[in-house]
Amino acid sequence: MANVTSLLRGADDDVALRVPGGVSLTYRRVGELVAETAERLASLGVAPGARVAMAYPNSPEAIVLFLGAAAVATACPLNPAYTETEFRFYFEDTGAEFLLLPPGDAAAARNAVHPTMRLLEARIAGDGRLQMTNGASATVHASADPADDDVALVLHTSGTTSRPKRVPLRHRNLAASVANIVAHYQLTSRDVSLCIMPLFHVHGLVASALATFASGGTVVVPEKFAPLGFWPIAREVRPTWFSASPTPHQLILMRSQDDRPPGTERLRFVRSCSAALAPATMASMERRFGVPVLEAYGMTEASHQMSSNPLPPGQRYPGSVGIGTGVQIAVVDDHGRSLLPGAIGQVGIRGPNVIDGYENNPEANAASFANRWFLTGDQGTLDADGYLRLLGRIKELINRGGEKIAPREIDEVLEQHPRVKEAVAFGVPHPTWGEEVAAAVVVDGPVTEKDLQAHCRQTLADYKVPRHIYIVHAIPRTPTGKVQRRFVAEQVLRK
Ligand code: AMP
Repeated sequence: MANVTSLLRGADDDVALRVPGGVSLTYRRVGELVAETAERLASLGVAPGARVAMAYPNSPEAIVLFLGAAAVATACPLNPAYTETEFRFYFEDTGAEFLLLPPGDAAAARNAVHPTMRLLEARIAGDGRLQMTNGASATVHASADPADDDVALVLHTSGTTSRPKRVPLRHRNLAASVANIVAHYQLTSRDVSLCIMPLFHVHGLVASALATFASGGTVVVPEKFAPLGFWPIAREVRPTWFSASPTPHQLILMRSQDDRPPGTERLRFVRSCSAALAPATMASMERRFGVPVLEAYGMTEASHQMSSNPLPPGQRYPGSVGIGTGVQIAVVDDHGRSLLPGAIGQVGIRGPNVIDGYENNPEANAASFANRWFLTGDQGTLDADGYLRLLGRIKELINRGGEKIAPREIDEVLEQHPRVKEAVAFGVPHPTWGEEVAAAVVVDGPVTEKDLQAHCRQTLADYKVPRHIYIVHAIPRTPTGKVQRRFVAEQVLRK
């Protein structure tokens, strides 16, 4: 059996999930809550294949409701920071029939609900009980035993167009990825993982939460996490590891001037993933935490992890994302032919954690597979020992602290402003975020940068709103007349 409900592998009385200053739930209780969620959902008509959207900040609900929804149907977790327009798109795109929301909260998602959707409010109360409105008492006994091939989770990835691609992750994909992560970091029931990445993304959900459950350890889920709160929480829960993208790591580093401060006593390692970790940051982190910092490489289509640097005595190299972790990795040419060590090409992956294909998107599928390799859109090189270095991206994405943003989506929003004739968004380097969103626009009347940012804020979540909008006479074009985002960025920033 390889479904997500079978991943709760801790001893009944061990703590599976803990909120600092809040509830602690044992494995028995989490199992009961997941089963209860599944039964209540089934009693409300949630059937296999149905899409259950949910928009929760990090919380026990984000985990329990995900597992419950995935047990009887397909969970579609969404970023609660989306605007109403974004929610409307995701509800329509996933074909969501049900929506789970925290009671009385999440106005943007609530306003976006369309008449054919059913809104369910659910929370876990302070005494650890599930409260679900419209749920009555469960009358149907859901099988809660989905097939390995069933889609547990649907997420989106930004593509080259403004329309994100739908990624269906099957139970078997998630189970394989979790097993790879547990094996690679030798996770056990003694591990305590501090989950500071969002649970509506594979990084937080699969690496921090599900992998810990599968090893019988404890996941600590701070509510409303901010890097400022890291050290007090670390002192309280003494994690054995935690994973984040480089931006939170940098902010956490800045919040303590001492090496090995209280809270680091039980750490075994720290993991960095989802964006490039600068070797200098890695060195500072190793000094501060006093443990190995292991950079990993993940993507939604691979149910998260593809490679990672190993624990000692294995070698870890700054600037490398390590070796394949239960995943075959090759650097390939456009036809999917493997290149020799040292050559630069596109990173291709194969493995049971990798999606069979995007949903309802033959074009993307044709472009994403070659010679049975899934093409990641990342450019890299392998050394003779199988260590991968990422050198750049073939796909046009802006990576803001691990959040991927499709520039085309920003162009389209800007171009909806009545004064904007043409818009081109691009990433610019940023010391903490890695990259930040900027855009160049051509306008045909009086309008300011602030006006355009306010316009963007109406439809785009805050992290996508360009921090700089350059008003230009013409969009710079390459000598062959093409609009290339990198070239636009160079030209605009030079002025
Ligand atoms: P996502 O689907 O949001 O997890 O994004 C996946 C993408 O994040 C990858 O295809 C890479 O472009 C990028 N990424 C993930 N891990 C790293 C890393 N360690 N270094 C550089 N880029 C990374």
